[in-house]
Amino acid sequence: MSKFVYADNAATTKLSARAFEAMKPYLTEYYGNPSSLYHIGAQTRQAVDNARAEIAALLNASKPNEIFFVSGGSEADNWAIKGAAEIGARKGKKHIISSKFEHHAVLHTLEYLEKHGYEITLLDVHEDGLVRPEELENALRDDTALVTIMYANNEIGTIQPIKELAAIAHQHKVLFHTDAVQAVGSIPVDIQDLGVDLLSFSSHKFHGPKGVGGLYIRKGIRLPNLIHGGAQERGLRAGTENIPGIVGTAEALKESVENMPERNARLEKIRDKIMDQLLKIDRSRVNGDRTHRLPGNVNMCFHGLEGESLLLMLDLKGVEASSGSACTSGSLDPSHVLLAIGLPHEVAHGSLRLSFSDENTEEDADYILEILPPIIDRLRSMSPLWEKIISSDKK
Ligand SMILES: *Cc1c(COP(=O)(O)O)cnc(C)c1O
Repeated sequence: MSKFVYADNAATTKLSARAFEAMKPYLTEYYGNPSSLYHIGAQTRQAVDNARAEIAALLNASKPNEIFFVSGGSEADNWAIKGAAEIGARKGKKHIISSKFEHHAVLHTLEYLEKHGYEITLLDVHEDGLVRPEELENALRDDTALVTIMYANNEIGTIQPIKELAAIAHQHKVLFHTDAVQAVGSIPVDIQDLGVDLLSFSSHKFHGPKGVGGLYIRKGIRLPNLIHGGAQERGLRAGTENIPGIVGTAEALKESVENMPERNARLEKIRDKIMDQLLKIDRSRVNGDRTHRLPGNVNMCFHGLEGESLLLMLDLKGVEASSGSACTSGSLDPSHVLLAIGLPHEVAHGSLRLSFSDENTEEDADYILEILPPIIDRLRSMSPLWEKIISSDKK
């Protein structure tokens, strides 16, 4: 096997060399506890403060201390949603609005809250994979505590009108959270311009280390403690800081933002070329809107075959891809995202997600376009489902 193409960057990305170099000293010589008063504690405290200030500036938060470090996207989502739910409950507000195609870190948190007496409304995302602002307007109630809608979807890459949605929530004096895990580092994110109250991000989705991320909490919002203990993260999220992780996050984000214009122009070209070419295949479709879409996301369905078999065949040729999110592959249920945009079960089964990053080249795209069509032909030639589709067509 000669070629290797990693095309599953929505699941995780490779740690960048720059982030790794920045982290190294904090894995070796700088080991002090930031809460200690002596010299080596001050070194690591300074590193955490610098990282916080850098990230705040890159995301245009108004103050560094609006950024709180956590263990990743799932933790940030849990904290934002359960915290806002608790704030709401104190005022008798126990209704939360979200969408049908959120990440499980959001959907399962909402299911948990539902069991504890909250009412949840999930907005439709329609065939184009987009929430309609007027439907949010209609769903808001006097007892709504929170609106939580993801910035960019992790399976189909569609980008929501977050600024508009947040403004609608605010007209009704309701808090707005966005899971921006797929957006931060990938597309421009300007927190003050978006006007959101809470925003989650995760380092390993933009070439930072795994197990670290952050929650932006707008100044003035008093989110309840997530972890009780020491005074770290202003007493709200106790535990000695993941210093190398935090330093690596800031470096990776800086690099991603610096490379963004050049990278996204390149990735959009790769994405569009792949979609255009693969659409020539009989009974293929692109899932989700083509323009309001992450630069590196391709998600398509090919009728009459199983996504899992497609992935195995691609793997044999050195191409690592996905049929849905890492959390659903391994189960036989089709993706909740593809069902949410209205695909029937049997079509949703034949889905393929290719997600590209800084590491991918146009040659990767050419290689995929060379090997994929014959694989699809072969799988279809063995598929009873495809047989049925074709013969019912001839009638
Ligand atoms: C990856 C991802 C998460 C989870 O982030 P972790 O850091 O892996 O916990 C949450 N939301 C979205 C949209 C994601 O893509």
